[in-house]
Amino acid sequence: MGLELKPSKTKISHTLYEYEEKVGFDFLGFSVRQYPVGKNRAAKNPKGEPLGFKTLITPSIEKIKQHTSKIGKIIKTYHAANQAQLIKRLNPIIRGWTAYYSTVVSKQTYNQADLCTYQQLFAWAKRRHPKQNHQQIAHKYWSTVGNNHWVFTNKQSGNIQHLIKHHKTPIVRHIKVQAERSPYDGDWVYWSTRMGRHPEVKPEIAILLKKQKGKCSDCGLYFQDEDLLEIDHIIPRSKGGNNSYQNKQLLHRHCHDNKSANNNTLFICPLELDEDYINDNPF
Ligand SMILES: [Zn+2]
Repeated sequence: MGLELKPSKTKISHTLYEYEEKVGFDFLGFSVRQYPVGKNRAAKNPKGEPLGFKTLITPSIEKIKQHTSKIGKIIKTYHAANQAQLIKRLNPIIRGWTAYYSTVVSKQTYNQADLCTYQQLFAWAKRRHPKQNHQQIAHKYWSTVGNNHWVFTNKQSGNIQHLIKHHKTPIVRHIKVQAERSPYDGDWVYWSTRMGRHPEVKPEIAILLKKQKGKCSDCGLYFQDEDLLEIDHIIPRSKGGNNSYQNKQLLHRHCHDNKSANNNTLFICPLELDEDYINDNPF
């Protein structure tokens, strides 16, 4: 595209070994680096040989500090507010932040953030009731919900509110896009299989591609970009099959032709063929 790197804004780093007193790099709030590990835990190259290290992407230290100090500041400014207002203010922040990091290695960070939040909240509560002891304060502001202990819970008023915990956010691994792939590479088979939609593909075909994981139901081979595809009714419409997705499959055109031909022979008994039919349809 004719773009060039600007040297003053470019940094060279090594993801496994220390280089200029740092390992790895931070990007968009994520910290990327590799750790030396034994052969069983190591990443493997395309030939299946262990590489001797594992790549871990985690929230960057800087962003963790930023987040916990933001929470701390809010808790401080809410010293006169009640518990319900504080929970209402903090929940969307925790929800948003944990969602951003939910696809990487964040469990440990989430636990640390929960501990830090707890300490800040306890200071907030203590300040409100300087004469009460630890137990009394805990009982007033925290509760156990199922097997989740130390939940900051507003038990006043009618509706009970809980503060979200960072570590309750499920970590969902992202399925990697194959290397060298781009939505603009024209490979609509790959992209509709992955997403179930594509601007240039009829929704019906894209949905079936996704359902069949990109393979022809008849021959089991992956569809290629240049293949001709056809939608087949598994039970033919003429035999009472309906028009729902359950009764539809995507086939190569040649596989579809084969299937139709086989379907026909199933219903024709060769012994009953007359001479005219044989002449018209040489086997
Ligand atoms: Zn096929």
